[in-house]
Amino acid sequence: MNAISTVLARLPPDIVMRDQDIIGACTTDFRRQYVGRTEALLRPRNTRDVQDIIRTCAELQVPLVPQAGNTSYCAAATPADNGNELVISLERMNRVREVDVANLSICADAGIVLSSLQEAASEAGLLLPLALGSQQSCRIGGNLSTNAGGISVLRYGMARDLVLGLEVVLPDGSLFCELSPLRKNNAGYDVKQLFIGAEGTLGVITAVSLKLARKPRQTVTAFLAIAAIGDLATILDLAQVQTGEAITSFEYISDTSLNLLLQARPDLRHPLQARSAHYILLEAATASPVLDIEAAAMALLEQLFEQGLVLDGTIAASGQQAAQFWHLRESIPEAEVHHGGSVKHDIAVRTSRLAAFIEAAAAVVRQHAAGAVLSAYGHVGDGNVHFNVVAPAGIAPEGFKQRFEANVSPKIYQLVAEMEGSFSAEYGIGRTKRELLMRHGAPGKVGLMRILKAAIDPGGIMNPGKVVP
Ligand SMILES: Cc1cc2nc3c(=O)[nH]c(=O)nc-3n(C[C@H](O)[C@H](O)[C@H](O)COP(=O)(O)OP(=O)(O)OC[C@H]3O[C@@H](n4cnc5c(N)ncnc54)[C@H](O)[C@@H]3O)c2cc1C
Repeated sequence: MNAISTVLARLPPDIVMRDQDIIGACTTDFRRQYVGRTEALLRPRNTRDVQDIIRTCAELQVPLVPQAGNTSYCAAATPADNGNELVISLERMNRVREVDVANLSICADAGIVLSSLQEAASEAGLLLPLALGSQQSCRIGGNLSTNAGGISVLRYGMARDLVLGLEVVLPDGSLFCELSPLRKNNAGYDVKQLFIGAEGTLGVITAVSLKLARKPRQTVTAFLAIAAIGDLATILDLAQVQTGEAITSFEYISDTSLNLLLQARPDLRHPLQARSAHYILLEAATASPVLDIEAAAMALLEQLFEQGLVLDGTIAASGQQAAQFWHLRESIPEAEVHHGGSVKHDIAVRTSRLAAFIEAAAAVVRQHAAGAVLSAYGHVGDGNVHFNVVAPAGIAPEGFKQRFEANVSPKIYQLVAEMEGSFSAEYGIGRTKRELLMRHGAPGKVGLMRILKAAIDPGGIMNPGKVVP
């Protein structure tokens, strides 16, 4: 009997799924770039099952790949194609353990789908301020393991900023449990931070305690055609001042991204009369029943028109119209797929340099890939832009993407490095960005990562081949 068969024979049959028709979905990454293989999907019922699985795998040196919603854009949750790894999914561990309304906190199993956790918070009259396009599929354990960003980072921070406590099964099967939802706890190293953004390479997160916020009583959503990309930082500053720092989202949409979408989806309408090369989708919200956020937004719009910073703009007249604006923003990745997919660069620079980056990187694309369609959009309030590139019409997308990644992407990443930015703002490293980490990681970082990995996972069983070069 080989090691995998021994592991599977020792585990309760109820947690071992061998049906390859079902397992198939978890062996291919979201972007369909990698196809792996595994003999079984392990579906623990509780933390003790996770401990038994990991202890058994550690003893027999069988590697484990944690997988949550499998929406990673860098193949972080896909097993290798040699069939030597088992996949563990916490999909059955999806209970809300506690909502503490007065403490503004929620505690849940790590396998709960993000949208279900949002609903649980909402039913308690509160807001879980973590929101991303994949929220109907991704699970909170995956969100914390990737330190997910999304559309509310500007106001509430990344996933890491919401974490009060964690429960993690370590690579030897022992438990680290600091789940208490305390706002202050300086009792020793803040060890839980290590597991956030570790992409399953240091252990399996089994439960989380998160901060909640008060639910907004008033929300305003505006769609603006801005005069020049160079004014992004000024517009954001004015918006924060006018609304008393109530801006929750400040999203950029380039005209080319919007055009790709409107070509792919003729049922959708452009929200403005005037056309511009650049648009902003802005949202402000407050829990206050007294502050008039709509009046603040109107005053902002007036000021932006007066100063010539916007060419056109509208404030959503209803929740339905606001949802239509958001639908445009969130459908862009789908539109890129419709046009053959894109080469993605998920980059961040400081907000003061963002416009300069977009202009310089667009010049690189024009010089080295004439005719390519630049689809730039994203969470620019956080200095994060998805600088994506789609093949020119009439050019086979797959070949274009390969050539672009080999010849032009390195120039874009070099530009990011020169501007002291990040080559991975929110998607992580996974399998696809390890070389970039070697090339552009901060001095000393990879060495420290290797020391931590060897100390916590000496057998190297947790998600091998990911993150750590
Ligand atoms: C349409 C779309 C929109 C997106 N928008 C955003 C966005 O705005 N912001 C953003 O940051 N990302 C975004 N993403 C990327 C992706 O959704 C996030 O990275 C998300 O957090 C991944 O969660 P998941 O549950 O799918 O995790 P998976 O993809 O299953 O796993 C991700 C990583 O976490 C590890 N992992 C999973 N569960 C655990 C666990 N319990 N313990 C330890 N390790 C674990 C896996 O091994 C893997 O390394 C988007 C993706 C899509 C498809």
